[in-house]
Amino acid sequence: MFIGHYGAGLALKRFAPNTSLGTLLLAALWLDIIWPVFILLGIERVTITPGATRVTPLVFEYYPFTHSLLATVFWAVSLFVICRLLKGRFYTALALGAGVLSHWLLDAIVHKPDLPIGISNASFAGMGLWNHPWATALVEGLIFAVGLSLYLGTTRPINAIGRYGIWAFAGVLVIIYAVQFAGSVPPNATVVAYVGLAQALLIIFGGWADRGRRPGIRGS
Ligand SMILES: [Zn+2]
Repeated sequence: MFIGHYGAGLALKRFAPNTSLGTLLLAALWLDIIWPVFILLGIERVTITPGATRVTPLVFEYYPFTHSLLATVFWAVSLFVICRLLKGRFYTALALGAGVLSHWLLDAIVHKPDLPIGISNASFAGMGLWNHPWATALVEGLIFAVGLSLYLGTTRPINAIGRYGIWAFAGVLVIIYAVQFAGSVPPNATVVAYVGLAQALLIIFGGWADRGRRPGIRGS
């Protein structure tokens, strides 16, 4: 899943309005940010088989440390604890934990049954929506739209960055999503990993746009 995770990050603003959107997006995307690192280190494995699903050619062979349910709970609790240790607000810490958990739940909608429950790679979850491209786009698009509207209803612009930056951010995400859907097949796992890491730039983009907005009812 791609754009749906950004929808989850945007939606979290409703529950932690004083937390930077960049931080909330980082939580919602956390598993996909550390996954490329584990791929590059050779700890986890992904291969490319065109047609593996109708949406993505990626075959997630081994990724229990970033994408098992057990690891997800570990990362969620870790982010919660680290946030509290750094004197973050309770609701910020809670939003970070919820963001990490949301990632696994949303991935479970689209992935084939390849998401491990535990580290042992014995049982898996996944509803396989990626075999239905239009349903995938509809579900992800809906999650993104709901997240964006929650975000816009929770914040108001204080300058031009806040007014237009968030729409530029949303527009870039939609364009990237559309290009992905056009069915490009990456040459190898290393390229997949670096493209995955580049998502950090999108998170920074969202955090930057958010700096031009403050919590408050729209138009007030
Ligand atoms: Zn993921």
